Amino acid sequence: MSDSVRRHAIDSIAQRVVKTSAAPDANEAPVDYYGKDVFNAAAIRKFLSRGAAEKLLATIQDGKRLDPNVAGDVAHAMKDWAISRGATHFTHWFQPMTGGTAEKHDSFLDVNEQGEGIMTFSGRNLVKSEPDASSFPSGGLRCTFEARGYTAWDPTSPAFVKRNPRGATLCIPSIFCSYTGEVLDKKIPLLRSIQALKNSIARFMKCFQAPEEHITVTLGAEQEYFLIDRNFYLQRPDLIQTGRTLFGSAPAKHQQLEDHYFGAIKPRILNFMAEVESELWRLGIPAKTRHNEVAPAQFELAPTFEELNLAVDHNMLTMEILGRVAEKNGLVCLLHEKPFAGVNGSGKHNNWSVAYGSRNLLDPGDDPRHNPVFLAFLTAVIRAVDLHGDLLRCSTVTVGNDYRLGANEAPPAIVSIYLGDRLTETLQQVEDGVVEEYHTRPRQMKIGVAIPNFTGDDSDRNRTSPFAFTGNKFEFRACGSSQSCAGFNTYMNVAVAESLDYVSERLENYVGKPKFNAKLEELLGEIISKHKRVVYNGNNYSKEWLKEAEKRGLPNLSTSLLALRPLLDPRNHQLLEKYGVFSPIELESRYEIMVEEYLRKIQIEGEVTRSLAQNLILPVVLEEYGELVKALKTAQDSGIQSGQAALKYRIEAIGALLDEAQTKIGELAAFSAVDVETCEEYIRMTRELRQTVDRLEKLVDDRKWPLPKYREMLFIY
Ligand code: ADP
Ligand code: MG
Repeated sequence: MSDSVRRHAIDSIAQRVVKTSAAPDANEAPVDYYGKDVFNAAAIRKFLSRGAAEKLLATIQDGKRLDPNVAGDVAHAMKDWAISRGATHFTHWFQPMTGGTAEKHDSFLDVNEQGEGIMTFSGRNLVKSEPDASSFPSGGLRCTFEARGYTAWDPTSPAFVKRNPRGATLCIPSIFCSYTGEVLDKKIPLLRSIQALKNSIARFMKCFQAPEEHITVTLGAEQEYFLIDRNFYLQRPDLIQTGRTLFGSAPAKHQQLEDHYFGAIKPRILNFMAEVESELWRLGIPAKTRHNEVAPAQFELAPTFEELNLAVDHNMLTMEILGRVAEKNGLVCLLHEKPFAGVNGSGKHNNWSVAYGSRNLLDPGDDPRHNPVFLAFLTAVIRAVDLHGDLLRCSTVTVGNDYRLGANEAPPAIVSIYLGDRLTETLQQVEDGVVEEYHTRPRQMKIGVAIPNFTGDDSDRNRTSPFAFTGNKFEFRACGSSQSCAGFNTYMNVAVAESLDYVSERLENYVGKPKFNAKLEELLGEIISKHKRVVYNGNNYSKEWLKEAEKRGLPNLSTSLLALRPLLDPRNHQLLEKYGVFSPIELESRYEIMVEEYLRKIQIEGEVTRSLAQNLILPVVLEEYGELVKALKTAQDSGIQSGQAALKYRIEAIGALLDEAQTKIGELAAFSAVDVETCEEYIRMTRELRQTVDRLEKLVDDRKWPLPKYREMLFIY
């Protein structure tokens, strides 16, 4: 039976005709439909009066508070535009603490006094909505009977329409707070942190007498994911319930040959990617790069960077679209951080920087030693990461990331910075108070033959560092593939804001005075010598780094529960309160939410492991065991000697593992509640049951194994 199901799955994959023809817009040029489903500048100008349009655009571009009087006009224009794009409904689209997005649709349709249908949408509808949102996690910020929550329009992120086969929905990016105004989402803290950082940057740049400029915090979020055939997925209750495989041993060949990485993309996958891109482009999401990743069946999508708040919204939408388009193509997109044991997991690289006008503050230029703004900004970031690495680590906590961080594929739980040799050298000069002639050394790469000569970069890359300087931005690599980028960037912004303020405070008395440069050098030297312990250019995966980091006093918050503790630290309460991002109560509520979610997920994994072992796997193995015992008896009765040894071997090997599995199932079943104290133990027990079952998988008849195997899921698609 199980065998026939699996055969059927494979058969139907084999027979599938891959539609290489048009993704929806293949005949249209991307430049013609780019941003068509967004209420963007062009749509705003087309559907709004000139005065109102300029006001709204100023809000979007400069974060200027929107004149409440124009909300009605904007609503009207948005409705007309959305209807012209096929919309029948609208929704406040928000990001509660579940980690995903949320939406509750209302139709534009109303009935007038004559009993006729009319389409309405008012300024009030646009600005605020009041979902009964009592079932979202609040971490004790309110009780279930206090059901009121508000979503409110975030005019800095443009509205868009999401299409469906029978129409479309106008989505209004929104914040989400409680009746009493407490934060219940990921967007409010992010927006607050962006504002805090902008204030600090403005103050910092004043020290350098720079003219006032528009400030943009930028993010480019590289998204990794797996794709497997939906037929396999549907035969894996563990994937369906937990997003990862709870059983399965890595096949003989997986990623050792590194032949998948950057390999030619299979037509079925390319078809999927092209369809995803066309959907993203319609939504004004600048998908740029696509490629095969290291693990089999693993891929990556990277957009061009954008303003941070917008980029976070866009990444949330990207994850949703990956899932939807996969399903349409008979695939399933796994965003889990570690869907398959034994091969690489998936992360999300957060590329972070700041633009001051058109100047990237993390661009070293040709001569960083003589680039005081860059040096001061870089130094402030180093100080921020050294002082607040605990919060950055905290932002990476998910159950899935536990299985990924620190394995030979993702940075470990110790937060450190990679700068590369050249910049490290430059900072050493600052610390030592020397100014050496600095010439960028354009390295001529001479390959020979007919390859035109080209120049190499100043420094190499380091894949093992959680926080790497990559030319003109920092890349934080510890975030999980399924996570919202809001968490990391919120803490990052605040940490840097605090450091910039520290620098500004020390410099402000000298602005415009002859001593300024000397004071700046002195200050930077002092900060560097104090915080350079967080800079490490070596191999972060090595054992030596563990020891070295300990010597340097860098925290190693190795488990998720440890990594959440910084949310309870009064030092962090002060920091986040000072910058108006979280009150201590809000931070503590986040701790509650995250711990609870973590424990629940661990418990679900344990229960799924136990029940699948008990009800799906053991019965099949017992059946084989019974047949073997019967066969042995027959051989003995008829006096046939040959084969008895093989039968005995199998009976004993399988029998021993069966007993072992049954004992472990019993232990897991007897475990009542998973809490902070018992969690590690529960994880260990779950893992041990898996190990036993994975050994059984290797022993029993391949035709009888009830779950699709790794070698099938990862290679047949
Ligand atoms: P890699 O995989 O080699 O790290 P990619 O080119 O795939 O590099 O991704 C780099 C990401 O960094 C892209 O999303 C890119 O847009 C983004 N990026 C480039 N410059 C900046 C910047 N100034 N601020 C934020 N992100 C940036
Ligand atoms: Mg990267």
